[in-house]
Amino acid sequence: MSSRTKKFILPEDEIPRYWYNIQAEMKNKPMPPLHPGTKQPLKAEDLFPIFAEELSRQELDQENTWIEIPEEVREMYKNYRSTPLVRAYGLEKAIGTPAHIYFKNESVSPIGSHKLNSALAQAYYCKQEGITNITTETGAGQWGAALSYAAKVFGIEAAVYQVKISYEQKPYRRSIMQTFGAQVTPSPSMSTRAGKDILTAHPNYQGSLGTAISEAIELAQTTPNCKYTLGSVLSHVALHQTIIGLEAEKQMEMAGEYPDIVIGCFGGGSNFAGIAFPFMRHTIKEGKKTRFVAAEPASCPKLTRGKFQYDFGDEAGYTPLLPMYTLGHNFAPANIHAGGLRYHGAGVIVSQLLKDGYMEAVDIKQLDSFDAGMIFAQSEGIIPAPESCHAISAAIDEAKKCIETGEEKVILFNLSGHGLLDMTSYDKYLSGDLVNYSLTDEDIQKNLDEIGKLD
Ligand SMILES: *Cc1c(COP(=O)(O)O)cnc(C)c1O
Repeated sequence: MSSRTKKFILPEDEIPRYWYNIQAEMKNKPMPPLHPGTKQPLKAEDLFPIFAEELSRQELDQENTWIEIPEEVREMYKNYRSTPLVRAYGLEKAIGTPAHIYFKNESVSPIGSHKLNSALAQAYYCKQEGITNITTETGAGQWGAALSYAAKVFGIEAAVYQVKISYEQKPYRRSIMQTFGAQVTPSPSMSTRAGKDILTAHPNYQGSLGTAISEAIELAQTTPNCKYTLGSVLSHVALHQTIIGLEAEKQMEMAGEYPDIVIGCFGGGSNFAGIAFPFMRHTIKEGKKTRFVAAEPASCPKLTRGKFQYDFGDEAGYTPLLPMYTLGHNFAPANIHAGGLRYHGAGVIVSQLLKDGYMEAVDIKQLDSFDAGMIFAQSEGIIPAPESCHAISAAIDEAKKCIETGEEKVILFNLSGHGLLDMTSYDKYLSGDLVNYSLTDEDIQKNLDEIGKLD
């Protein structure tokens, strides 16, 4: 057997110096966020009370294609970037496909997922603007862990509201946040009006992301020098994540290939955007034929069964109205193990791109996602995060089609994180306790009727 290359890594001085802002090159720009009361389009200044100013500007920037990565952020990226682009020979063999499968391994970041790519950027800009405290919410804890570490790096205090049930049932990511020095509060808490209100009405409430968001936003609004941060959905988060695809573009070149299909799992859209947008650029500009596939859970199918319309980003209705594919902000997703994919809406850029036919979406059942995760673990030696299993499942489906057609398609997917802190989920799978959740059309229509009135 001739020697073959397993992984492609960029030298540190070739880590990209700019993020790619796809908004500037889209033919149809995303529609603006609207003030929920006046229904007027929001400007960057309107976001300053909650977000750092530079992040507010990036959120709405439709002019600048390339945005320079600050030197301090690039220095921190060097701790774990470039992340490897890996040829999945083991997986190809396990499924017997002629396809060439590659994955970008974001699980090598210190906190185990892609979330750090944006956390470092957000903490940096906050520090630059003289902000001393940042706050956020977290469910299972991937984003909270990333932000806690990023805050420590730039010398800011982090306060994280963690959904109470996760705080109690998933203690390890909470310990990680505390190890990095963050203050972690189970939500709902008595420290905010929103928390007090809900605890008064329901003393045993186990919390939800929607409530935790409301608490974090309230803390940011009522504390001097404190800003709120978010780990997905927003356009500036997608921007920071393009470091993934920009590296992958150079690494695919090292491998002498170009992807026919690019796949990412989909919660709010940030890791999908990260791997896809730099390649989609060649579709927009040169008409290159590449398929972009977002893999969402069948139990939270905003892209495949949701509706494109203005809706709130949170359950309580505190955020601006965003034009997006949504299941309705009151949609309560089933308690699947891929906690990072349990969100009712999709980011505004991705929503516009789906509407315009630049990308497609597939829905993956919980059991199928873990079946795929098992094959990947056994053939490549990495235990994938339950979220990432959705991308793997979609990649395997595409690779299997190649067995029938005999085509050597090049498939690239993003491994958004590892699952070493999610072994309870694998335990459930192995003991046969995992189930699929089905959604009837009526289940879906209920919340859509509700938001129909927002129009
Ligand atoms: C948060 C998370 C996701 C989902 O978020 P996106 O913004 O859609 O990328 C996917 N994978 C992992 C490992 C996560 O932590």
